[in-house]
Amino acid sequence: MQSKIEHVTCLIIGSGPAGYTAAIYAARADLKPVLYTGLTPGGQLTETTEVDNFPGYPKGITGPELMEDLKAQAERFGTQVRFGLATKVDLKSTPKKVWIDETIEMTADTVIISTGASAKWIGLENETRLRMNAGGVSACAVCDGFFFKGQEVAIVGAGDTAAEEATYLSKLCKKVYMIVRRGEMRASKAMQHRVKNTANIEILWNSETVDILGKDAVEGVVVKNSETSENRTLDVTGFFVAIGHKPNTDIFKGQLNMDDLGYLTIIPGSSKTNIEGVYAVGDCADKTYRQAVTAAGSGCMGALDAERYLASSGIH
Ligand code: NDP
Repeated sequence: MQSKIEHVTCLIIGSGPAGYTAAIYAARADLKPVLYTGLTPGGQLTETTEVDNFPGYPKGITGPELMEDLKAQAERFGTQVRFGLATKVDLKSTPKKVWIDETIEMTADTVIISTGASAKWIGLENETRLRMNAGGVSACAVCDGFFFKGQEVAIVGAGDTAAEEATYLSKLCKKVYMIVRRGEMRASKAMQHRVKNTANIEILWNSETVDILGKDAVEGVVVKNSETSENRTLDVTGFFVAIGHKPNTDIFKGQLNMDDLGYLTIIPGSSKTNIEGVYAVGDCADKTYRQAVTAAGSGCMGALDAERYLASSGIH
């Protein structure tokens, strides 16, 4: 167990685009940031293949390469990137306290939280296998829809995300099957209206995904109608899952304000949380956009907010 408590000016929790961008800005402002990566260094993008929508890469880049580039850029200006998971925090104390892997105790003048969110999956064996092998299973239509241009795809879910993504896919794909587990949708009326009035979206009500076919890539999806118990195989090459995300914010409960889904609440137009010196950036505070570039932009805001707080309070 660590005996000496380490103090830093700026502690960053999480290593997605938001965390690394915060680190680049904080390091260049001489805040000597220490960034703890969490259990998946690089975050959600390390689980994707091609990233074609991050500005500055005209030929696209793979998710893991993009994250390596961001890490290298953060390190170039002196960020200490360390592997470790924040397991407990006391953000109301001065300085703020953060425990890593339950044993290492850090104190910090400012904390930038960029712990991200995790997509929820149905949990089918073939879903996991094809997702891991980049075989056409995705939780982000905006990221991966382009690869299915002119093809037939299926999307599971009936919330605003599923409705929005089905509409997005319908503009690229020949046909979109929307698999809805109940006889109604949770999405807002306006979003439902749009889905129902799009000619190439077919809604499969009361339907559950039973299996995903294909060895190396999706070749079909088996759907069971829960009212008739009949199975139907959809001839699709892409399978999108939009059944919600879970923000990784459990350790902040009771200290930071969050909405009923667990997304951290920030003062609009800033990255400020309800505690001075604590900032929330990226997907842990964003249920709407959830893009690498918006996360990166908010990471920049977090570092600038931290820098201004340190200057105005005379700490740095
Ligand atoms: P939601 O939790 O709102 O919806 C999840 C959907 O997935 C529900 O329809 C649910 O079905 C379904 N579902 C859950 N588990 C399964 C499963 N195992 N199999 C099949 N279906 C399943 O998540 P969203 O990501 O859609 O939205 C999250 C929040 O973000 C919401 O508050 C939403 O309003 C907001 N949002 C707003 C947007 C906007 O304003 N433009 C865009 C996107 C999101 P059931 O209904 O039966 O429970």
